Amino acid sequence: MSKIFVPAKPSIYTETLDSLTARFKESGLPAFRATQVMEWLYGKRVDTFDAMTNVPVDLRNWLKTNYVIMPCESIHVHKSGDVTEKILFQLEDKQLIETVLIRYPQEGVGLEHSRKTVCISTQVGCAYACKFCASGLNGWKRDLLAAEIIAQLMHICRMEALGSQRNDGIPFDNIVVMGMGEPLSNYENVLHALTTLNADWGLKFGSRRITVSTSGLAPQIIRLSEEPVQFRLAISLHGATDEVRNQIMPINKRYPLDVLIPAVKQFTEKHGRMITLEFILIEDVNDSFDQAEKLGEIAADLHAHVNLIPYNTVEGLAWKRPNIRRQQKFADVVRSAGASVTIRKEKGDDISAACGQLKLRKENEIESLKANDLLTEA
Ligand code: SF4
Repeated sequence: MSKIFVPAKPSIYTETLDSLTARFKESGLPAFRATQVMEWLYGKRVDTFDAMTNVPVDLRNWLKTNYVIMPCESIHVHKSGDVTEKILFQLEDKQLIETVLIRYPQEGVGLEHSRKTVCISTQVGCAYACKFCASGLNGWKRDLLAAEIIAQLMHICRMEALGSQRNDGIPFDNIVVMGMGEPLSNYENVLHALTTLNADWGLKFGSRRITVSTSGLAPQIIRLSEEPVQFRLAISLHGATDEVRNQIMPINKRYPLDVLIPAVKQFTEKHGRMITLEFILIEDVNDSFDQAEKLGEIAADLHAHVNLIPYNTVEGLAWKRPNIRRQQKFADVVRSAGASVTIRKEKGDDISAACGQLKLRKENEIESLKANDLLTEA
């Protein structure tokens, strides 16, 4: 498969206000209409050109000839009892990606007013093969286009507006770039998408509420620190020494801790914001108190917050999470080094919320249907 996917017709989400204005001018169309089109896309979040009622019919037809709006289609929504929803999207080339909406119910507040985070994907599959992660199990297929990243959020905006009186507010509080794929290895498309979501002519979503999570691509972390729009950063650490991290994160052989930590330090010094160190707790792999001490030292040095995540079972892997007492004791040791630390309550275990699991399950179902001659190749 080609690394660069070229759609039959591009999504208009690919355009910025400047590029659409330039395209209109080149085509002899009124440039001011580009602002109107962006308002329909990101303000009113329409998914058809015909809904752009103050745009002349000729221009709408021109848009239809040259673009689509949505480059993907939602083919499955899986809800969990603890109010996590996973949306499976099919892309034009039949590849599957997943997006997760996580609600955080608060006491005394109805579900519709709960805090919400959307976790988006940036690649089809993943090449980095972190040992706890289902996304890497079938390898990397391709990078997502910027429009395919933006479309995941725009779909959630429309989905959440259904049944609501208003559809102009943004129905989530945070975006985490933590789904399928290593975002910093699809750097240009991810940055293009996040900049669009943040732009005044785009979704106007605050950059402080967007977190990019990386397995630890040190050169790209440095590059990200130099971008004009500053996003939050989370590092998938999962091991506080090279010996332990090598067992969980193959990327550590390319960018070991003595390369990664200085890159993160450069980011925090330039950026001035607290970063997060993600640490999945796996019994007898990385849950020793020696690891906790070293993790606490790294976090204190970086002024980072530590997010401990009890391991979420992945089909095909034998690892387990430590018991709650062990998790708490581990957190106490990290805290005693002067670092701030929380233990995350895993949401959506029953719908395979860990990244890549729903896609993997769906692909396995499709393969088994094909094996039984119940489905023909798309
Ligand atoms: S955790 Fe992220 S970088 Fe690692 S395999 Fe999964 S998707 Fe890829």
